[in-house]
Amino acid sequence: MKRKVSITIFRLFILGILSTPLLFVACKKDKDVAVVTVNMGNVQGKIVAENGTRHLPAVKVFVDINGEVYLTHTDTKGEFKLNVPEGEHLLYIHAGDGNLFFSTEEITVKKGETTTAGDGGVMKLRQVANLAYISGSFDNIQSIIIDTLGYSADELTVQDLLDPSLLSNFQAIFLNCGAPESMEGAMYQNLENYLSNGGSLYASDWAVSYLTGDGNIKSMAHKHDHEHPDHMSHAKNCTSSLGGFLTDDMLCTQKQGSQTTISGASVVHQDIQNVVGGMTMNVYYNLGGWDVIRNLGPEFDVLIQDNQNYGPLAVRSNGLAPWASGATSGGSGYDGSGNWVTICHIPPGNPNNPQTITISVNALQAHLDHGCYVGSCGGSGGSLIYTTFHNYPQGTVSQDTYDILQYFITNL
Ligand SMILES: [Zn+2]
Repeated sequence: MKRKVSITIFRLFILGILSTPLLFVACKKDKDVAVVTVNMGNVQGKIVAENGTRHLPAVKVFVDINGEVYLTHTDTKGEFKLNVPEGEHLLYIHAGDGNLFFSTEEITVKKGETTTAGDGGVMKLRQVANLAYISGSFDNIQSIIIDTLGYSADELTVQDLLDPSLLSNFQAIFLNCGAPESMEGAMYQNLENYLSNGGSLYASDWAVSYLTGDGNIKSMAHKHDHEHPDHMSHAKNCTSSLGGFLTDDMLCTQKQGSQTTISGASVVHQDIQNVVGGMTMNVYYNLGGWDVIRNLGPEFDVLIQDNQNYGPLAVRSNGLAPWASGATSGGSGYDGSGNWVTICHIPPGNPNNPQTITISVNALQAHLDHGCYVGSCGGSGGSLIYTTFHNYPQGTVSQDTYDILQYFITNL
């Protein structure tokens, strides 16, 4: 590393004073940070889904030069501009940890110039994992995955949850509101193991019963049109759940939400702020009797919150939960071929801002040398997102909700 810096400084002497000097912090330990000058340029572009038109905000775009990571995120229009040293680079493009959606693009950056990458500046975020969903009578997230974004997902049945080897073919499973009416204990156990082994789960509204079990679900599954909380005589009390693998201390809900649009809910997560372009959003509930979160454990982060009446509206666990303690790895990244690896990159000059990134294995050693480690920064095991709102409400859906559902799919 010392030699690299020396060479860089030597080059600067040779080249003389640069026309547009820019500073960056060399990839070294804090106490001997070296500041050098290099020839910088810009690369710009736009990231879209497989369908070619739907733009994707909050996607990570970065270049990795011997462990130096130059990273940005796409804006609300799916566009980015990244300042990097001149030269030929591999541009990494991925959402979340890079294990579901991942692309690369070869770029050439020239000093002091702005290069437009991709086909006319547009690059697709590719699906690199197998997704599955279980249908529900009140929700339809596969419509966004398949019809809107142009990705693919296979349908599973509730009975398929009895087959762990089948489940292991998929890196993420989406659970729609409106099923099931009953679950066997082995199904909950298999879902827990699935998560512990690095699979990711998304569940909406009443699909919380896949996670927490619900002693009331059998008697209430016939209707989802309760407009008034007072009529919810069978509401769960956070004490008597049947089945499930999350305890009431981790997550407990009651079917007491009203049909409403919550205006000005707080967007807690910064990525989602970038998606909606602000700190607040409107959340539309098309049916009454939705599952209000009453207990939420420290295993979960709140993504969206109603500060008036309902509290957390969307939550996430990144695998820090105790049930993931048996996981062997944070994920191999990309397609599991061994050519790509997911690491927790700890910027040497900014150790409080770790980034989960998926990179070529050829670039791994430089990161290990400065203290980065294999696996997600969020810990082992898959991630879990639960939204109290529907993902495909009948009738009108607010643009805000739509945009973040797209984010949840690509960042699960
Ligand atoms: Zn690193």
